Amino acid sequence: MLFGVTTSNTAARRTALDNVRVFDGNALTAPTTVVIDGTLIGADDSGAERIDTGGAILLPGFIDAHVHIADTESPARFTPFGVTTALDMTCDPAIVAGLRHTVGTTDVRSAGLGIVGAEGMHGKFLGEPAIIHGAEQAEAMVAQRLSTGSDYIKLVLEAPGEGGPDAASAKAVVAEAHARDLLVVAHAASPGAYAMALDAGVDIITHVPVGFPLPAHDIDRIAGEGRVVVPTLTMMEGMAAANGFADAFGAALANVGALHAAGVPVLAGTDANASPGVPVNPAFGESLHYELELLVRAGLSPVDALNAATALPARHFRLTDRGSIAPGLRADLVLLEADPLADITATRSIRQVYSAGLPVAS
Ligand SMILES: [Zn+2]
Repeated sequence: MLFGVTTSNTAARRTALDNVRVFDGNALTAPTTVVIDGTLIGADDSGAERIDTGGAILLPGFIDAHVHIADTESPARFTPFGVTTALDMTCDPAIVAGLRHTVGTTDVRSAGLGIVGAEGMHGKFLGEPAIIHGAEQAEAMVAQRLSTGSDYIKLVLEAPGEGGPDAASAKAVVAEAHARDLLVVAHAASPGAYAMALDAGVDIITHVPVGFPLPAHDIDRIAGEGRVVVPTLTMMEGMAAANGFADAFGAALANVGALHAAGVPVLAGTDANASPGVPVNPAFGESLHYELELLVRAGLSPVDALNAATALPARHFRLTDRGSIAPGLRADLVLLEADPLADITATRSIRQVYSAGLPVAS
């Protein structure tokens, strides 16, 4: 029937959130209406169920740009905290296979199995299938990741001599990934590993050195070459405390402040995990709110911190269907009682979360 599609769209749930102040990436709008039409943000409020929010604040759903999915139940643990997209940075591909493009629970993208050196901590943890022994293996390893569904490549770099992939292997992985239009996210937690990541040409660097300032010329390079950083301050603070050098965490905050001041896009990522043997296990979902507080402590404004968890990760991970509030985008939304532009901790004042249009109990 000619109008079959229209009929089914009309039957989809349509909700109008009235009297809502929308975070537009810069500020809150005057009270307005946002329409949820099925799984998307709509433009037509005819026939909608109307909800007067009483001037509540509406944000795009949060994106945590560094997590480790533990099992198929993990996504639902993020959702009540407003984290509607979780970017996994190493997981068994079989676990995440059914967790992409979800409705009603947190939507996942994943690196699948990372690529690591033989002698470092990660090599011992992940074992042979993750280990690259030389540049000649890069093509087969990247092709294998693509064949098992990886949305991007995770490359674990260490400072030279500390057991990570050598410089030639790192460069070859990046070249093979880019030949397949895959982004490369590099783990780098020391200035030496950062320099290696820059030399290899990775797209996104995750973690940030604790206790050591990043050299100014590397910060200039990160900015000048258009790289993006996901510092995972929650994890870095936890690791510093677990290793008895909590005082060194101030340098991590200073590094993030310097990167941000240089114009480097800084994304919110927590390293949330439930991995046995990892000494710090930031909680799924809840930890994103703490990461936003740490980003503000590092020198980001509340507006910058909100963008670090919404528009910026969407842009830099090429998730073009989300990250802001506009008709046609996924209806991933967080309705708040209090204003996070005045106090970033207000991101915790969640009244309602929508995951692809479905209301989720908070
Ligand atoms: Zn991680």
